[in-house]
Amino acid sequence: MTAKGYGRISLLVLEGDGIGPEITAATLAVLAAAERIFGLRLAFEHAAIGWAAHRELGSTFPPGVLEKALTADGVVLGPVSHNEYPPREQGGLNPSGELRKQLDLYANIRPARSREGFPPRCGKPVDLVIVRENTEGFYADRSMHLGSGEFMPTPDVALAVRKITRAGSLRIAEAAFKLAMQRRRKVTAVHKSNVLRVSDGLYLECVRAVAVRYPDVAYEERIIDAMAALLVRDASQFDVVVTTNMYGDILSDEASEIAGSLGLAASLNAGSDHAVAQAQHGSAPDIAGKNIANPSSLIGSVAMLLAWLGERRDDPKLVQAAQAIETALDRVIADPASRTPDLGGPLGTDAFAAKVAQALQ
Ligand code: NAD
Repeated sequence: MTAKGYGRISLLVLEGDGIGPEITAATLAVLAAAERIFGLRLAFEHAAIGWAAHRELGSTFPPGVLEKALTADGVVLGPVSHNEYPPREQGGLNPSGELRKQLDLYANIRPARSREGFPPRCGKPVDLVIVRENTEGFYADRSMHLGSGEFMPTPDVALAVRKITRAGSLRIAEAAFKLAMQRRRKVTAVHKSNVLRVSDGLYLECVRAVAVRYPDVAYEERIIDAMAALLVRDASQFDVVVTTNMYGDILSDEASEIAGSLGLAASLNAGSDHAVAQAQHGSAPDIAGKNIANPSSLIGSVAMLLAWLGERRDDPKLVQAAQAIETALDRVIADPASRTPDLGGPLGTDAFAAKVAQALQ
């Protein structure tokens, strides 16, 4: 790690597929403004992933990208069209899954916050964070050391193995309680241990063990199906929600949509040593190349990355820049005339980014 305030901060930029190049360019425009205003010393390196890399190098996650990610201070990752990729043997690796596994990005931090001028769908202000375990669960491409978590013993039977470990559950619970201490001091653990007694049972046992060490944090448990309904009914009652991989994946999209729009949904994949800024949504091929995608999610994700770097490096300039980007986003989104078409506004991706950059001044 670089000592306080010294050295450049190296960011690896991976544009991804679909709207990836457009929202990445918009995000870099905002970062350039933040760099000027706050005197950040950012150094960017770009590498091809996704279809662009597959066309040239035969792989959606070619050799060398992981090494660059390992040495960078942070990664900006655009969305990828992994649903359309060929099988792994033909070069179709999911860059998002690969990075989460190889960099051990065990915590996917997904805030859902309503904003002024943009009322939440549950009628009350929402400000919650889903802390999603990111390396285990049902995710077949990343939960196994060798082979896949999905397999077919006969042509008519498909099985999926779900991995839950004590170490994985303890560390995601720790991340959630630490975060809650900086917020409203409430943690909700989401599970399905009434059915998945062994795996979700182990997960809950671990969360409870961590909860005991945080007596100042109110702790509650909710079953996943009820939680889906409670978010719609009143998402304002939640602060930090900790859960396993797939539940967190689904609940975070739901929470973001209830808070306002999935197009605003930022996310950070964080481990002990690495972090990757990544929007919650996918590559939106239906609107790719039209300059109408909303870049807020990736811009907000990069703000989270700056805050993460600022805390680790004890560098207040990075933390200030992160807060300023968040505030600028809020101010621009508050004005209906400054929104992108997904939010009913008239602005293109690049014009929206220019507004956010301007609002930083
Ligand atoms: P999606 O999130 O890409 O799109 C769902 C809907 O939301 C579409 O109508 C799309 O136009 C809209 N949308 C998404 N982001 C938007 C934005 N920034 N601005 C405006 N509108 C936006 O989901 P999908 O269509 O189910 O998936 C498309 C591809 O993305 C698939 O290949 C999928 O595997 C992949 N995917 C990638 C990630 C990731 O890279 N993190 C996450 C989810 C899905």
